[in-house]
Amino acid sequence: MAKTKNFKTESKKLLNLMINSIYTHKEIFLRELISNASDAIDKRHYLSLSDEKVPQSDTYEIFIETDKENRTLTIKDNGIGMTEAELENQLGTIAESGSKTFLEKLEKSKDADLIGQFGVGFYSAFMVASRVFVKTRSPYSDTGYLWQSEGEATYSISETKKDTVGTEITLVLRENDSEQEENYSAYLEEDTIKALVKKYSDYVRHAIKMAVSKTEKDAADKEKTKTEIETLNSMKPLWKKAKNDITTEELNDFYKRQYGDFDEPLHTIHIDVEGMTTYTALLFIPKKAPYDFYTENYEKGLQLYSKSVFIQDKNKDLVPEHFKFLKGLVDSADLSLNISREMLQHNRQLKKIASHLEKKVKNELEKMLENDREKYLTFYDAYGTILKYGVYDNFGANKEKLQDLILFKTSKSDDYITLKEYVNRMKEDQKNIYYATGQTKTQILNRPQMDVLKEKDYEVLFFTDDVDEFMVQILNSYDDKPFKSVQQGETDLMDDNKKKDLESKEKDHSKLLKAIKQSLKDKVKDVKLSGRLKDSPVCLVSGEGLSLEMEKVLSKMPDQGGLKAEKILEINPDHDLFKALNTVHEKTPKKIDDYASLLYHQALLIEGYPIDDPKDMSDKMIKLMIEATK
Ligand code: ADP
Repeated sequence: MAKTKNFKTESKKLLNLMINSIYTHKEIFLRELISNASDAIDKRHYLSLSDEKVPQSDTYEIFIETDKENRTLTIKDNGIGMTEAELENQLGTIAESGSKTFLEKLEKSKDADLIGQFGVGFYSAFMVASRVFVKTRSPYSDTGYLWQSEGEATYSISETKKDTVGTEITLVLRENDSEQEENYSAYLEEDTIKALVKKYSDYVRHAIKMAVSKTEKDAADKEKTKTEIETLNSMKPLWKKAKNDITTEELNDFYKRQYGDFDEPLHTIHIDVEGMTTYTALLFIPKKAPYDFYTENYEKGLQLYSKSVFIQDKNKDLVPEHFKFLKGLVDSADLSLNISREMLQHNRQLKKIASHLEKKVKNELEKMLENDREKYLTFYDAYGTILKYGVYDNFGANKEKLQDLILFKTSKSDDYITLKEYVNRMKEDQKNIYYATGQTKTQILNRPQMDVLKEKDYEVLFFTDDVDEFMVQILNSYDDKPFKSVQQGETDLMDDNKKKDLESKEKDHSKLLKAIKQSLKDKVKDVKLSGRLKDSPVCLVSGEGLSLEMEKVLSKMPDQGGLKAEKILEINPDHDLFKALNTVHEKTPKKIDDYASLLYHQALLIEGYPIDDPKDMSDKMIKLMIEATK
């Protein structure tokens, strides 16, 4: 008995678009069905290696049949087939991810070729068919099933007899539409089918066969027609063609279809290695990072093939974490097809390929950085952060590899520069690589601690990414030049005279400094006179070790809270405010607590840190404002 079911809402919408479609490229339906058939064969073959329920087949093939009388076109495969539940789930719903965006795009576009990029290929059959039958048998069910639909709101499923595992999809082609100039009968013609297979499915790995009629002359020179089974595709995968024979367009098309992107890839890397390890890799860097790229949901990995036979969809071991943006595939003859997934992880060949790939990609990125800065910047905008994590990860195991790929904006450059470029233009007397942290350029430039660096005309790297400071702790130095925060520890930018001068001032004002320190004892570790301020009255620095920015980042992470930076309050001895403090301390020492508190909060404010008790600060400020007029 047939069960009738409703399509899910989004499927209905999509089907509606298909049925009423006025798309160009309707012909791509054939490619979609062939590609599904090919995937199904791969799945069967792969499962048959480890699951005895799945019978192996000696030959795997896709067979196309036409029937002019009944206006049907059938695509048969001996792939994995579908169970009843699968029929319902796979053909009754469209994949959740991205389907909304897809529908929106498709509604606007006139080009059906968008379809293949979204894993909804099956429905494209309804662009050319008024009715679709799917007869299928899975090795996991005892009987076959027949799915049918006219693409309206419903479909039905019934049991049917099918002896062999696999799927047959039959399209009842629509009547020609002279108004829309649509000739659906063309899909019944051998020549059309041949041409379409050549155009779209030539590199499908399994044979696509069709009974083709041939006219021959017999001995008596009489014409005779006979049919012959012909293989329509060359079965040569794109990546197996000679590099020079592959066009950019082919690569771009392949990428878009295979990896579901609307955009062309930013960069393509084709690697062909022969030697100890022989493999071909086709790698792509997408223009944009996927929305979940920086979350745990993102799955890295490359497709793995052995002698052009698909083995695995996302092999994680082939790409290091810091290059997890790579999409693409690796095909190696050195891998045994029979290895299970677990074994794959320990495969020595795979490790070699992975390390070779990593080097290649690194070189490629370095070349891009040198020869095509603009392209590299697009790359860096999307993936720079992951490279920085790469430096930091594994206690810096990869830092040497990655440090030259990292870029920074600086106090002297709105464009990104490399560490090498920074070092090359360091001042002669400059010993350290200076950096300052903050959310934005303006915030950093306005930091009081920048005073002395501006005076010296030293370039300062801007650290605006949370990971930057963590990364630099691991890097430690570049080209033997240590990294030095302008906001941490003692400043090294005082000459001896200034140092002496400061020491004597500290002595002279030790009582005042002590009083302020006493008053802020819960908040800061020390109160000092500053050698790094010029125009600013006060600043907050941290001791060596954890910085204020790192404290902020850590406080947002689970289990890491509670780690505190050592805060040191520095006061500018040459600023009028310092004189005012002295006066207050001499005349009304009771008030020094309020002043100290305000001073501390000013420092926090200037640095862009949150204030512990805004109400208290405001009260003190208002009190002071009123007193000032008395
Ligand atoms: P996609 O192939 O991108 O997943 P489709 O809409 O084309 O999207 O197909 C949906 C699903 O239906 C497939 O993922 C697959 O599970 C199943 N399917 C389609 N065609 C076949 C087939 N010939 N044999 C087995 N399963 C198929």
